[in-house]
Amino acid sequence: SPGTAIAEKYLDHNRNNFLCSLYFMKDMFSYSILDYSTGEFNSGEDKVSELYNVINKYSISEIIICKKQLKNLDVAKANNILVTTYHDWIANHQNCYENLLEHFGTSSLKGYGFTKDDLSIVSAGSALEYVKNNYFGRTKHITSISKIISSNTMKIDVSTLNNLEVFQSISGKGLYGTLIDTIDYTSTSMGGRLLKQHLSKPLMDSKKINYRLRMIREYLENNITDSSIIDSLKSISDIPRIISKISTNKSNPKDIINLSNSLLAIDAIKKNVNKNKLLLKLISKTKNIKKICLEINKVLISEPPIKLNKGGYINFGISKELDELRSISENANKWLLDYQEKQKELTGITSLKIGYNKVFGYYIDITKTHINKIPDNYIRKQTLTNSERYFTEELKEYEHKILSSTDKIIIIENMIYDNLIEFIMKNISSILFNANILAQFDVIVSHSINANNNNYVIPKINNKISNFSIHKSRHPVVEKLLPLNEKFITNDLELGNKNRQIAIITGPNMAGKSTFLRQIGLISILAQIGSYVPAVKASMPIIDQLFTRVGANDNLSGGESTFLVEMNETANILNNATSKSLIILDEVGRGTSTFDGLSLAWSITEYIHNNPLVKAKTLFATHYHELISLAENLPDAFNLNIIVKEHDDNIIFLRKIEDGGANKSYGINVAKMAGLPSHILERATELLYQFMNTENNNKIIH
Ligand code: ATP
Repeated sequence: SPGTAIAEKYLDHNRNNFLCSLYFMKDMFSYSILDYSTGEFNSGEDKVSELYNVINKYSISEIIICKKQLKNLDVAKANNILVTTYHDWIANHQNCYENLLEHFGTSSLKGYGFTKDDLSIVSAGSALEYVKNNYFGRTKHITSISKIISSNTMKIDVSTLNNLEVFQSISGKGLYGTLIDTIDYTSTSMGGRLLKQHLSKPLMDSKKINYRLRMIREYLENNITDSSIIDSLKSISDIPRIISKISTNKSNPKDIINLSNSLLAIDAIKKNVNKNKLLLKLISKTKNIKKICLEINKVLISEPPIKLNKGGYINFGISKELDELRSISENANKWLLDYQEKQKELTGITSLKIGYNKVFGYYIDITKTHINKIPDNYIRKQTLTNSERYFTEELKEYEHKILSSTDKIIIIENMIYDNLIEFIMKNISSILFNANILAQFDVIVSHSINANNNNYVIPKINNKISNFSIHKSRHPVVEKLLPLNEKFITNDLELGNKNRQIAIITGPNMAGKSTFLRQIGLISILAQIGSYVPAVKASMPIIDQLFTRVGANDNLSGGESTFLVEMNETANILNNATSKSLIILDEVGRGTSTFDGLSLAWSITEYIHNNPLVKAKTLFATHYHELISLAENLPDAFNLNIIVKEHDDNIIFLRKIEDGGANKSYGINVAKMAGLPSHILERATELLYQFMNTENNNKIIH
């Protein structure tokens, strides 16, 4: 099934292929996320209201759920993911618990962070049962299960990941224009997958963040100009996927040699980072599994074939019997040539040939003109138009020896291969552990290359910092996509919980408001995954949740209008944000009539400002210029605007942000740039003056 696929053609090497098992209990649900192709197995619990966020956050290919709970799942909202049901009796807590204990060979699951009563037990046990049934019990490569603790990571909902184009571009151009595409310099598939996991779950633990940042600094200081580490990383194969192939009996000798070479690369990397305290510490965590590599390299030839069924991949010196059989088969050609020469001499037929075909085996071919010279011991096998084919007892005996030796060679080689696999299987937890360390190392190297190539700086980030103070920040993606003759204009941000809590950002269309909002969101994510950031200097708080309400998304297939989606997302923000959250609002209220929209935007701003439970740092871009006066009256709100220069009837975008509100929208100027017919522009200007006069007479009173 899609969620348990292991064939390469169904897998993206840079992306996990998750099966998601769900189990509901009252207003909570547990979810277990299992990538059968790598053995990664994680499980967590959440409120039912978070269900679709969880489902849409992971790259899930299939959801499994017991029949009686199917009604808890709105399949349309599950984003076209295949949903498979299983029998209700499988979702039995006690059975699931016992199955998990039996699978991991432990007496409790405490070592993995689970108690016996955890809701996760059912979803995890059922997931395991499902893949066991799918793969006839071949689950040895699933060696551990980790607990997903959501309070340890920054909460980013799916709409935020989409709005900020972290993994997917809004324009539907796939990876082009996404954050992942811009910052991913990983060299291994394992590193690529881990980087994606980091991005969807940025850290909240200041120590861990800073540890990663310090490792990047070490790499930048000592290794960035040396390509040997990259070369070593590039030589590493997808270890977890090889292990899953081994576990399901689908591996081939080439996979095993790749596995050994990949594991041996650890030594080369170790040598190259020996000047770096933290990087060396990280890579030194790898378990010593040299004996596995030695055994593999002893048993298999260095460039083995992909297929198992033809033999020819076991080294000489491993089995005496195999070597003898091989010499028979290798000498066969010589023997046949000698025999042919001998028969020519004996019969005096110079055109005599020895040949082979699958149906008749070996034969002596003699043209009809020489039939009278045939000796008595020749036995007829086949008659053709121009020749007759014969065999002798001697040739038949030899044929048997050759053919049976070929069969025997394959049997012996397969047996040796199976023993080797068994030996490797005994060490899979160590191998997978090392693969994970390599992935972590690769991610650090990737961040270092990105920081070096794109001029990022180390952010100052910890729990004591409560304000954003970012100097000369840039949008990591937009800066890369600008035409050659355009330069990205950097901007500063000072944002805190007092005085500068809510920034009301005004400015003309096209000025760069959305870009600025998104760049701050992306910089927060980057900092909390432990990456350098695109700025000249950055001091940042650790945020617990990142919310965005950006642009117009509609979910028509889900039965929701554009405005309803906008309000749903806003309600979610207002109900969940805390003083440690960062809220990004881009033109909230735009989806309805001007006065409805303005009134909503106004009261939302007041709520975030006045409610001590929310009090989140907020960036609010708006075209409602009325909000400028609101910011002037709320002590913790302030105005920012993006400046433009007027030149004749045109505007020049300076993209610079400064304190204070904008005084004009310039919408008509932007329409002119887009080439709207001049009589429309003239009429619009006329109407604008009329509307502005009416509005001035009806100014909102606060
Ligand atoms: P609207 O109000 O119409 O939504 P906006 O103010 O949100 O417009 P953006 O969409 O952020 O404007 O920016 C428009 C374009 O300007 C971007 O696509 C980008 O190409 C360019 N741009 C934005 N900010 C910068 C910058 N700081 N430096 C250089 N170019 C920029």
